[in-house]
Amino acid sequence: SSPWEYAPAPESRDIAGLKPNYWMLVDGQFVEGTGEPLKTVNPATEEVLAEVSTAGPADVDKAVKAARRAYERVWGRMPGAERAKYIFRIARLIQERARELAVLETLDNGKPIRESRDVDVPTAAAHFFYHAGWADKLGYAGYGPDPRPLGVAGQVIPWNFPLLMAAWKIAPALACGNTVVLKPAETTPLTALVLGEICQQADLPPGVVNILPGAGDVGAELVNHPGVNKVAFTGSTEVGKLIQRSVAGTGKKLTLELGGKAANIVFDDAPLDQAVEGIVNGIFFNQGHVCCAGSRLLVQESVAEELLDKLHRRVATLRLGDPLDKNTDIGAINSAEQLAKITELAASGEAEGARRWSSPCALPDKGFFFAPTVFSDVHQAMRIAREEIFGPVLSVLTFRTPDEAVAKANNTPYGLSAGVWTDKGSRILWLAQRMRAGVVWANTFNRFDPSAPFGGYQESGFGREGGRTGLEAYLDV
Ligand code: NAD
Repeated sequence: SSPWEYAPAPESRDIAGLKPNYWMLVDGQFVEGTGEPLKTVNPATEEVLAEVSTAGPADVDKAVKAARRAYERVWGRMPGAERAKYIFRIARLIQERARELAVLETLDNGKPIRESRDVDVPTAAAHFFYHAGWADKLGYAGYGPDPRPLGVAGQVIPWNFPLLMAAWKIAPALACGNTVVLKPAETTPLTALVLGEICQQADLPPGVVNILPGAGDVGAELVNHPGVNKVAFTGSTEVGKLIQRSVAGTGKKLTLELGGKAANIVFDDAPLDQAVEGIVNGIFFNQGHVCCAGSRLLVQESVAEELLDKLHRRVATLRLGDPLDKNTDIGAINSAEQLAKITELAASGEAEGARRWSSPCALPDKGFFFAPTVFSDVHQAMRIAREEIFGPVLSVLTFRTPDEAVAKANNTPYGLSAGVWTDKGSRILWLAQRMRAGVVWANTFNRFDPSAPFGGYQESGFGREGGRTGLEAYLDV
């Protein structure tokens, strides 16, 4: 059953809960920040949605100090069973406000409402439910009988799953007894602020969760604040490397969830129609703004032509347009900058000699949209085979033998995820052991569960989020 069922009937289709301005959450109160306010835009219409107050350096300091006080006086000492009640309440409130959160996420991010409704919001609630369960059982997590929280967690998240990334960060931190200062991405701060409101509704003690909108400078200020004990970052590999350098030698514990260039590998014995669905989900879910997107399709040569033909026909049926329409498959690209980046990389594919096929769908007059695109005749040296595009663009390569598939799949500095499609169970296990990727999906793609650890190898970062392993990032033994 879907948590959607708990939502009250909508009064109208217009923007439930959308306020003209949003302040930041510090020490249990929504207050105006000293930074320059930012305007957040609906990428499907280019209209301003709301004005959001941002944090200046003094606000970061206040928030970290409030988190420290809350940690020392209340949250870090509270029995796990008590913390669990708050976390459970947050999960229930996300379900109660599911409709509002889904609409707001779609407006701010551009993703199809079907995805916000069926994936982002319920998975966010699931993360809080799952971690509520751990809060009084940390002694059984495998980190010794009495693992301790770290203190104040400084957390910075990207724009592709604004609410879900906030949940991934906040839920385990709270379960383990840490307090939080979170900075959402500059283009998508709204649902994180509603989550802040939900924390207040749940009566979370002031200062346990603080939310500071702003750009990269606020993130840098936060991760470099001496009062922060733990830094958790999800975002680009470039910024992840900067953060890794800046916290080196400070004793802060660090986890990084960075970019990816996942291979989705299809063998000739795979059920091709099922594989096509998985390929489409792998690269076009959330317009391809997914760190673990299956952006490189590796297909066995003997079925390449047949698969490509099926794929083109399927992609041509995807409906692109108004993200608030329940029938939309492909929504808007989150920002003009991201659209420009995708456009440039796609042009490089053509210039380097790959064969470009784009869905014949019409693009709306307004907003940032990019037609689903498939490149074939791609070689490993091309930019579209090496760089993270973070958009609805698939690069198709071929292979002859399983060894060649593994070699090509692993030919990347990243290592977040991979997919394999085959009828042979033994081949799945053989391949999964050889892949340098944190997640290997077999005959499926983009499946997420709070009990499954998620994270990368190599330049996709280190540390895991979710599952028992994910708790390690927020505990000292
Ligand atoms: P980004 O690195 O530009 O920004 C991410 C966040 O970091 C934003 O909140 C931004 O304001 C902040 N930031 C920017 N400069 C900073 C600095 N110097 N110090 C501290 N914070 C700073 O990434 P993005 O464009 O928002 O997100 C897309 C990237 O995120 C992609 O590369 C994607 O693969 C990655 N991502 C990874 C995962 C994962 O779990 N591995 C999940 C989602 C997204």
